[in-house]
Amino acid sequence: MSDELLPPSIETAELTWQDGVPESSRFGDVYFNREDGLAESRHVFLRPNRLSERFESVPARGSFVVAESGFGTGLNFLATWQAWRERATNPTAILHFVSVERFPLQREDLVRALALWPELTPLAAELADKYPPLTRGAHRILLDGGRVRLTLYLGDIQEAWQALQFKADAWFLDGFSPARNPEMWLDQALAMIRAHSKPGATLATFTSVSRVRRTLESAGFTMQVIPGFGRKRDMLAGTLPVEVELNQDQAPPSVAIIGAGIAGCLLARNLAERGIPVTLIDSATGPGAGASGNRQGATYVKLGVEFNDQTELALTALCFSQRFYARFRDQYWHPTGLLQLAWSEQEQDRQRRFLNRNAYPAEVFYPVDQHQAGQLAGVPTQTGGLWFPGSGWLEPAKLCTELAAHPLIRQHFQTDVRQLQRLNSTWAIKPATGPDIITDRVVICAGHLTPALLPVSGRFRLKKIRGQVTHLESQTLTSPRSVICGPRYLNPVQDGVAVVGATFDLRDDNPDPTVVSHEQNLKELTDLLPGILRDAEGLGESVEGRVSFRCATHDYQPVADELCDSRGQVSQNLFMFTGLGSKGLTYAPLLAEYLADRLSGQPQCLPARLMRRLASQRLHQAEKSETNSG
Ligand code: SAM
Repeated sequence: MSDELLPPSIETAELTWQDGVPESSRFGDVYFNREDGLAESRHVFLRPNRLSERFESVPARGSFVVAESGFGTGLNFLATWQAWRERATNPTAILHFVSVERFPLQREDLVRALALWPELTPLAAELADKYPPLTRGAHRILLDGGRVRLTLYLGDIQEAWQALQFKADAWFLDGFSPARNPEMWLDQALAMIRAHSKPGATLATFTSVSRVRRTLESAGFTMQVIPGFGRKRDMLAGTLPVEVELNQDQAPPSVAIIGAGIAGCLLARNLAERGIPVTLIDSATGPGAGASGNRQGATYVKLGVEFNDQTELALTALCFSQRFYARFRDQYWHPTGLLQLAWSEQEQDRQRRFLNRNAYPAEVFYPVDQHQAGQLAGVPTQTGGLWFPGSGWLEPAKLCTELAAHPLIRQHFQTDVRQLQRLNSTWAIKPATGPDIITDRVVICAGHLTPALLPVSGRFRLKKIRGQVTHLESQTLTSPRSVICGPRYLNPVQDGVAVVGATFDLRDDNPDPTVVSHEQNLKELTDLLPGILRDAEGLGESVEGRVSFRCATHDYQPVADELCDSRGQVSQNLFMFTGLGSKGLTYAPLLAEYLADRLSGQPQCLPARLMRRLASQRLHQAEKSETNSG
């Protein structure tokens, strides 16, 4: 197998250029009309779908979903985004654009193609900036401050329509001509469009091939032949009959979130930015008081040797988090790069197998030898490892505070929730003191305190893990320039302190820092980076630190799902979002996006196979398997 085909990489577009216009060498066809591609996009796709008028009537908190086959250069997408900017007036209305691409363009090619239209320059620049690493699967890209959300599935069309969950208002059936690109126009692929359409959905396509028209008709669309663009005489437009009138402008259901750590704060902010009011509840005096309250925390994931669903979830979360945190750059987000050292023989072997079986884009990570590792991290290392150029560290406590500060987030601190009770169609949140909080939906983001709040039968396989971090004052060490990870992680010095962590203490409830835990942190650190400490003697007794408790599941994978009891019964409108272990900073942005998609009824950012990894039901499996998986 050639290197390019190892997972998670994907074959990219092979282009030839003529007068700045790209043509696919693989398909022998152009991406857009040579004379004026933008005018063609508007004529063929935007106008027959009446996008301008329909955008104007999207209500506050509403969304409009365009689905496209064949993302190509992104020209159709930019034309749609431009129209959205001009016509959609409600600041909380969201344009969702769902597209699929089997042979994605490299970023440089995309930039070159889109440079043909100066009027699109700012949009093209933002797209290029956030264009994902070219790995198979679903990528959610937030643009225009979240007013535009692009779900770009890199893979084959049939796989995409099977994996993604969304209902479109309008379709762009693009692709190369059916004669040259038959896979795109297979009856099976066209038939799936119906299942992904809202009543009244419209579609448009440049082709007028009668087989395509008939297949769409038999899928339920009323089809019309209309004049094509330029030299193309005809094209097709279609509409799905409206079965029920939808009234989109309903008050959103109220959402209460219990727990103001990174998961709760990210979810609250995500919903608030979609116009949904949230009540954020925590027993502490402010956000980020628990495991998300450390001074520094790294965005770290361990990508598995096998590219399976678990690895895909970790990768998707990592790439999403890097783009998401960019808005906090130079505030609470420090993308210094992160070095994962091959610190033991076992880890060296693991990294070797991992590199042999996979091909990741260098913007995700690349292997480095000992010399390069030292250069990048700014301190000598004993081995090489993997360098993640887009990763870094955060100031989680400050970030939580910032996220929770939004006019649509009502903060209820010092509120100790004791119980949840289902009323008819709502939930009552019962605090130790004060009146009940009545809400339509509840999301429990209470970390290790979650099990006590679950009002359903059965034991959930969630465990509490103590983690102590050690604060090293700047004069005690040589500060690295990047995050360094091994059996412990070390961050660069900030405001005179570098945080090293963390211990992993099962069955230890001690909330106070101990000398023993500091000494463990320091020993692991000096084994990993000998000479990093100026004088380690007696340091464990004089340093300060912090203890918090993380919540992990039996399989060390997060949970983000509606709650399911041990009999498989779903507790409607009650969700849990926890089990993030020590990877919360990396996973939480993506999972907050996913839950906000579900809570707002908008297209989902994750394919079905990754949603299954997050299911709450798996926490109830037979206890026997628990001992095998931890
Ligand atoms: N809409 C694009 C734009 O705005 O630039 C142009 C799309 S181009 C005409 C067709 C695209 O469909 C190509 O990028 C091609 O790689 C993609 N494609 C072809 N076969 C596919 C398949 N089986 N699944 C998904 N995408 C496919």
